[in-house]
Amino acid sequence: MDFHKVTSSQEAIDIEHKYGAHNYHPLPVVLKKGEGVHVWDVEGKKYYDFLSAYSAVNQGHCHPRILNAMYEQAKEISLTSRAFHNDKLGIFEKYASEYFDLDKLLPMNTGAEAVETAIKICRKWAYEKKGIEEKDAQIIVCDDNFHGRTTTIISFSNDEDARKNFGPYTPGFIKIPYNDADALEKAIKENKNIAGFLVEPIQGEAGVNTPDDDFMQKVRSICTKNNVLLMADEIQTGIARTGALLASCGHCTCQGHCERQSTYAKPDMLILGKAISGGAYPVSAVMADDEVMSVIKPGQHGSTFGGNPVAAMVAMEALQVVKDEKLAQNARRLGHKFREAMQEFIATTEIVDHVRGRGLLNAILINDSEDSSTAWDICMALKENGLLAKPTHGNIIRFAPPLVMDEEQLDECISIITSTIREFEEKLASR
Ligand SMILES: *Cc1c(COP(=O)(O)O)cnc(C)c1O
Repeated sequence: MDFHKVTSSQEAIDIEHKYGAHNYHPLPVVLKKGEGVHVWDVEGKKYYDFLSAYSAVNQGHCHPRILNAMYEQAKEISLTSRAFHNDKLGIFEKYASEYFDLDKLLPMNTGAEAVETAIKICRKWAYEKKGIEEKDAQIIVCDDNFHGRTTTIISFSNDEDARKNFGPYTPGFIKIPYNDADALEKAIKENKNIAGFLVEPIQGEAGVNTPDDDFMQKVRSICTKNNVLLMADEIQTGIARTGALLASCGHCTCQGHCERQSTYAKPDMLILGKAISGGAYPVSAVMADDEVMSVIKPGQHGSTFGGNPVAAMVAMEALQVVKDEKLAQNARRLGHKFREAMQEFIATTEIVDHVRGRGLLNAILINDSEDSSTAWDICMALKENGLLAKPTHGNIIRFAPPLVMDEEQLDECISIITSTIREFEEKLASR
């Protein structure tokens, strides 16, 4: 079947506006092709991608090994459902178990589904292992969290856009400030029904909100002491993005296996999505040791597409690429360089306040009110100059390129970013 082809970016935007729900507010750029750190629009203009599909494309666009794994498996069989076994799922589960050092994996498709899965397992564990009275389990979450868009997950969001008019909300969640281990300890002490603590090791959507270096370790020890499950949502921070295999590993690039285990705040449940497939296919997972995972029995959870053989092969290849191409090490090295360059620049400008992040998950804070359009306008100017980034929470711009970037490319990007902001500042001043 020969479908209609759009011939201009404007046509694509118009048709989407007319026939699609308006549940996003994208930058007005229409992408048609991607390769490595680059994407191209309908008119053929080339850009550096500094969003990487919210860190799903850590391995770079259209990685040939990942595409090949997908194609080879799709030719054999793509979907069996879990009514039958397939010959790839178990191999993927074993591979992931060794890779992340947790006994078992439960496969789903999207990040939000994996978070929902973790919540269900946590509650069941609370009733069957911890001895909390049924329906009383509480899960502690953080202010400004982002864990997805389902009805239960938005119930414990404090983003009014995400919540308003979607109630009634799911009960059973207690909010504490982020990066506040004392608040966690206090909340646990005050309530005997705490089953788990759900946390992002860095809050990506909140604006790359980066906690103290020892936050996750403190949290780990408080959860252990109180028999509370630590659930790390590493959907955005995981898979080498922050210069370590997992952000829970702190500053280590050991991929979870080195003698500096003391810096690794190993979660009881590890929640993965996004880059676990290199952005090629929707794959997500919850990982846990037997003690926790064994509470789930047949018929209690699942998904038609979860654990399909294409997902299994794509995810394995995507994880192996991270190791083979040493992407954690690269993210750490380039991240240092990026933040250093931004610090230098910030010292010479009024318009940027601050840079923060780890590895190649970074953000700059624009010196303007949260409802100003300055960050959006800077992103539009960056787009004109060949670099795509998107504001998050008003006056914050996140910079998260694919991890396959090299040093020369990063230098060029730093120069695009600083000169664009400089131009922007001069334009403002001359008004
Ligand atoms: C993106 C994201 C999710 C949700 O993933 P989806 O695949 O969009 O459902 C959950 N948690 C974090 C930290 C994320 O960044």
